[in-house]
Amino acid sequence: MTQRKRIVAGNWKMNGSLELINQFAETIKTDLYPNVEVIFFPPSPLLSAMAGKGFNTGAQTVSEHDAGAFTGEVEAKLVRELGCKYTLIGHSERRTLFAESDAVLVKKFAKAQQVGLTPILCVGETESQRDADATEQTIATQLNAIIDKLGVACLQNSVIAYEPVWAIGTGKTATPEQAQSVHKFIRDLIASKDAQIAATLPILYGGSVNDSNSELLFAQPDIDGGLIGGASLKPDAFSTICASA
Ligand code: PGA
Repeated sequence: MTQRKRIVAGNWKMNGSLELINQFAETIKTDLYPNVEVIFFPPSPLLSAMAGKGFNTGAQTVSEHDAGAFTGEVEAKLVRELGCKYTLIGHSERRTLFAESDAVLVKKFAKAQQVGLTPILCVGETESQRDADATEQTIATQLNAIIDKLGVACLQNSVIAYEPVWAIGTGKTATPEQAQSVHKFIRDLIASKDAQIAATLPILYGGSVNDSNSELLFAQPDIDGGLIGGASLKPDAFSTICASA
């Protein structure tokens, strides 16, 4: 079986503080999880405060533009300069609250790779799409938007996060079977274009992961770790989740 990287990523969203960074620095010793890549996604103003603490870090989003007159935007190159290795692309809150279309996300994905950041592309269906049996179609559209424009090879240096929108921040986690089924769909879709890339691509599950459900989710054959929101703000819960990966 292919050995894939195990990843636990904490998405702080618009939460966190200098104080919380210190709490994590005391609690999370990443060398406790030698086989897991632990990554923090704090709000961008906290990224420089996280540098030098021994954590892998990433931005929650980056601009598709190069430096210039884009008030309020975060330049990908600058994120890389701060020592970050990753950026989230297309989190459902960016897609819905900030109207980021697939067309814009393709540009952000390409920009991230251009400056040496690994994009974590988030995909997932809403509750009504699931109810209408359109889960796979929705996810295929989101993935193909990237593959059709940039080519399947762009996934070589990337991570996918499957996050059903109905499970984000709701306490309603997908069952391990539901999640595994979509992860397998994603891997098969990519394998139909490039089997080697599909076999090595980490696919994370996100949506109400906590310290009591992570173990079963991460035990599924196509789930390689998690993207954690709420529970990533609690050092003890988060360290349990890291240990379960
Ligand atoms: P949640 O968020 O763990 O709070 O559901 C996950 C995410 O939005 O990445």
